Amino acid sequence: MKKIKSTQTEEVFPEFVECPLCGADARLVEKHCPGFIKPDMFSIYHCPACDTQFSMPRIENHKIYEYMYGRAYSHYRCYPKEIKKAKNPLQYLANAEPAYWAVIKIIQETAAYKKDLKILEIGSGLGYFTYALNHAGYQTTGIDISESGVAQARQTFGDYYLCADVTKWADKHKEEYDVVFSVETIEHVSEALPFLRSIAACCKPRKALGGGGKIIVTTPNKSAYSSEAVWCNSLPPFHMWWLSETSMHYMAKQIDASVSFMDWSEYHRQNRCAVRMKNPKETVRWLRAPFLDENGYAIHSKSALYKFLENIPLAKRIFRKVMRIPEYRLQGSRGLILCTVFERE
Ligand SMILES: [Zn+2]
Repeated sequence: MKKIKSTQTEEVFPEFVECPLCGADARLVEKHCPGFIKPDMFSIYHCPACDTQFSMPRIENHKIYEYMYGRAYSHYRCYPKEIKKAKNPLQYLANAEPAYWAVIKIIQETAAYKKDLKILEIGSGLGYFTYALNHAGYQTTGIDISESGVAQARQTFGDYYLCADVTKWADKHKEEYDVVFSVETIEHVSEALPFLRSIAACCKPRKALGGGGKIIVTTPNKSAYSSEAVWCNSLPPFHMWWLSETSMHYMAKQIDASVSFMDWSEYHRQNRCAVRMKNPKETVRWLRAPFLDENGYAIHSKSALYKFLENIPLAKRIFRKVMRIPEYRLQGSRGLILCTVFERE
């Protein structure tokens, strides 16, 4: 892929553009958003019709994934090793990330009334989630477009994985699965609706023999923030969308599916999770510094002291107090992760 042009002008990015999700007029809300890789710059638009924010220009940069997977920046990188050691890999994942907790809960609830679930993970990455599900007795296949991701997954966990594009996979595996899920992937693809349509095509519709299936999609939740908030999200083009509950309702209509959202109350009660931020409803801007330099090396913004203290919970809390880093304890049914369940009619 060609290097992204780093300079943009106001002429290139007008006040209004057509929303790439619903086609309505979307308004410019941030002209100069730093890119994930220095010195790229993007603009952020908001579509009031589907309550979606997106970055412009719509360029994917696959180099980011090579850097993230190849150079061990991502915390996802440590999971394959840890999961192989874990006694209960599925429980390990449920404890590790809220998105995994939510998907596992929905799968377990579905398995309680439906036998022999056939499950598909879209965007299986390094393969640990698909492995953990198989380990727990759920027949799961993982697909990913990254050849190196699939090769590493197969080498570590066995042959549960295939390198495939979801559109082509959907053509060959129509209405085959009881659960199709995609964790934190939709915000990375330039065409969200065709992506969801392909995911949905793999899943059994309601009229299918033995009942319909569930399509589970997780992504950062715009609805958890104030309506004025701008891009409280990873920088583009790593993330290209910031989707809300309204965005999901719009997409559900387009794929002829019903829609429901994970209720996070139980998770918030169990985990008493505090996040390093103000109340999301008071957060307006969150544009961060680039994560990678021009050559794809991580730019570490955390101090050495903070990184050291991070592993000592009490010391971390004191450090945050001293440095006045705000904390917010999450409560209620809405989470920072939007976990949507679509069910095809
Ligand atoms: Zn829209």
